[in-house]
Amino acid sequence: MPGKITLATTIALPTVAVGLVLGGVPPASAPFVEHSAEIIAIFSLILGWRFRRSRLILATVGLALANYLIRTSLSGEINAGFGPSVAALSIVLPLNLAIIGLLPERKVSSWSTLAFLAGIAAQPFLISRLLALAESRSDFALSYQVMTTPHAGHLAFLVATVFTLVVFIIRRGVFELGLFGVLGSCALGLFGWPGVFETTLFFGTAQLVLLFGLIEDSYELAFVDSLTGLAGRRAFDEALGGLGGNYTLAMIDIDRFKRFNDRYGHEAGDQALRMVAQCLQKTGGRAAVYRYGGEEFAAVFPALSVTEARKHLEEVRRLIANRTFSIRSPKRPKKKPDQPKAPKKNPAQAKLTISIGAAGPSARRPKSDDVLRAADRALYRAKRAGRNRLVTA
Ligand code: GH3
Ligand code: MG
Ligand code: MG
Repeated sequence: MPGKITLATTIALPTVAVGLVLGGVPPASAPFVEHSAEIIAIFSLILGWRFRRSRLILATVGLALANYLIRTSLSGEINAGFGPSVAALSIVLPLNLAIIGLLPERKVSSWSTLAFLAGIAAQPFLISRLLALAESRSDFALSYQVMTTPHAGHLAFLVATVFTLVVFIIRRGVFELGLFGVLGSCALGLFGWPGVFETTLFFGTAQLVLLFGLIEDSYELAFVDSLTGLAGRRAFDEALGGLGGNYTLAMIDIDRFKRFNDRYGHEAGDQALRMVAQCLQKTGGRAAVYRYGGEEFAAVFPALSVTEARKHLEEVRRLIANRTFSIRSPKRPKKKPDQPKAPKKNPAQAKLTISIGAAGPSARRPKSDDVLRAADRALYRAKRAGRNRLVTA
């Protein structure tokens, strides 16, 4: 499941922060806590810029600005427990965060990102003008009262959380997941305890949740294949280095996949790759499955001999061979098909098979590199022997 680290930090970091507030921050670390939000924000901005994460930058700027206001012009209100400007902040901040969660990832230097940044920067000024206006006019008295209670902020946080939940259910993104931790930390900071120190601690926590989200996102970028969601080539290479003792390595290749692409189009090919990956994930025997590259996959059975792994591989081979792949919106093939013309019906029904070569370590091939070569040779033999089969070395 993507986002494990972010989920953990979303829950753990605000909990730790609550523990620190309740238990008392050790005096030695107090100066660090005081500036933690700023320090983390700087890290986030640099990394967000390098990793081209416009939403991280927007959220960081929003949080950093809120934190700056809390430590400067709003410190009086915060120390007193609450006040009209803090009320306005607690309405605007969660809504900003929810909208940032909804935005698509854009170029950091794009006009929309810059416009949003300018919007965030202008908000404190607009709010202070609005509050001053509302306070001075008796016909705004009721709305002023409603706006400046904590309840308006509670409602804004609730709305933002539900909104983010919907976006998360649709997108399943790590950033959206982290936003729950950010919203939770900010709510605790604004409503939980009076005092600039405590509020800053929670805002630092929110920044840290965002930063962990970015770290996890980058990890996934490096190790997870974005098309299929399987672990990618880099993860496979690392797993290969750590193999020892009894294990089986299987190389899996989709049969005649070039023809499939020519017939149904590249997009349908991508859909099929995802479906094959889904089937491969069902491989038994505690197999770890990777996308090796293109239409090639690899499976590692960490504790099984080739004889033991065989039945799991045969099972998944049959599962794929018996499955009908429904192809949505078949595209016109780029090249002239080398088979009878593609079915015109929508969705098209297609069949696919895989060939597998499997090998384990032996006295002749003690190293995982040798085993990989042996599995590759076995795969080649499976292709030569007519495809849709498993050959073991
Ligand atoms: P064989 O049974 O011998 O393996 O034949 P094949 O056509 O599967 O093998 P070949 O290596 O000639 O072609 C592999 C094709 O896989 C070429 C390419 O069009 C397709 N392919 C590789 N990666 C992707 C991908 O990410 N998406 C799509 N749609 N197609 C891909
Ligand atoms: Mg191939
Ligand atoms: Mg192939």
